[in-house]
Amino acid sequence: MGLFTPALHRQRHQFVIDFVKRKKPKKVLDLGCCECVLLKQLKFHREIELLVGLDIDGVQVKKKMHGLAPISTDYLQPSYDQLRIELYQGSVTEKDARLRGFDLVTSIELIEHLTLADVELFSEVVFGYLTPEAVIVSTPNSDFNPFLPGLVGFRHSDHKFEWTRAEFKSWAMKVCLQYGYEVELTGVGQAPPGQQERVGFCSQIGVFHRLGGKERYNMFDEDAEDVFSYTLLYSIIYPSLHDNNILRRVLMCEVVYWAEKLKRRWIAEETGERDDTYDLCQAKGEGGECFRASERHVDTEETQTACGAEMKTLVDQEKGDGELFWTHSQPDSEKWRRRVSVPLAVLWCCCPKVSVLSGSVSNLRLLLMDEPGVKLSQDGSAVLLNHQEQDLDDDEEEHRADFEDSGYAEARQCPPSAEPAEDWEANV
Ligand code: SAH
Repeated sequence: MGLFTPALHRQRHQFVIDFVKRKKPKKVLDLGCCECVLLKQLKFHREIELLVGLDIDGVQVKKKMHGLAPISTDYLQPSYDQLRIELYQGSVTEKDARLRGFDLVTSIELIEHLTLADVELFSEVVFGYLTPEAVIVSTPNSDFNPFLPGLVGFRHSDHKFEWTRAEFKSWAMKVCLQYGYEVELTGVGQAPPGQQERVGFCSQIGVFHRLGGKERYNMFDEDAEDVFSYTLLYSIIYPSLHDNNILRRVLMCEVVYWAEKLKRRWIAEETGERDDTYDLCQAKGEGGECFRASERHVDTEETQTACGAEMKTLVDQEKGDGELFWTHSQPDSEKWRRRVSVPLAVLWCCCPKVSVLSGSVSNLRLLLMDEPGVKLSQDGSAVLLNHQEQDLDDDEEEHRADFEDSGYAEARQCPPSAEPAEDWEANV
């Protein structure tokens, strides 16, 4: 209708998001989720561990549900946060034990699509059976309707009723008394100046809180029937560092990246050999000048990451046990190869992400032991890196191919501390 900025449906969803930001619920259920618009915004609030949508219309739900899948940064830079998303087809007038015990249930512009008899069932299911800690219910405020230009009858052809503020309040109070909740009545969509008192908000909202805290839910839990009346349409578990496979993958990625970086720096400092940047510059005939330029480049990149700054200090300071050193392949091997040994202890100290992910040096060794992408020394105390890339033997070539195929190589193009590329909240 263009009457509100931002649009009214956005204001309703923003109301929920603001609530989520304040209260940080872990389990959130959206009733009448339709095309999952609200769920798609909620999934960025990573305090939420379980996000569920329910709608009677499976076709609507399926239309855009794949937009709830993890995006590339969720895979490339997984966090410790855990998130599972589930979508069900079913009616709010029927019970399902899987939806009990949530922290927040939202019902945005849903109840007016139900007959009054079904609203009774909705109240019983939501407040009496699901017993969430908080419920947000929004519905049109018919007191506001005279301000909607050209409106005849209800705001939508499927609406079974549109309540005045008094009617909404009377239903809300009854629910509170019957099921042990308290309610705060508010709304979104401001009336024209001077009219707010008289007509209220365009969308009226009730925010319900269960009285008596968690004990009440447990009391209900005892005699709850295990009903499963909804059909699961979609379920996805987001990658999390709590998953050991994902933890290993990310850790290996960090180790390979930082070991290589440490190696290059060490070679440059110890032997005067230059890294690729230098060779490139030298080919252009800008020798010494350019070496300093490439050094500057490395320095800038390092100081931009906490990891880089610490690495520099440690490589400067670490002598003795923690030092990098030359090693080489077995004497009986066909090709004699120079390698740099990067002690795990150095890696552990230099890169905060490696230490956080592994917890201890011995744990780091255990986690890397069976990783094909990393070559450890015989005693497992150091990562071995070939002096030059072309020194790869057949075995390593194979592993390297595995490693690159798996997408880790691309993953490395993102700095480890980069923020996710998209900020969806900005688009709300
Ligand atoms: N909450 C969404 C959509 C509101 S439209 C939003 O904020 O934009 C109302 C939705 O409720 C529709 O998707 C409709 O299919 C759904 N619905 C209607 N009756 C229902 C019922 N008995 N149980 C579950 N969902 C229902």
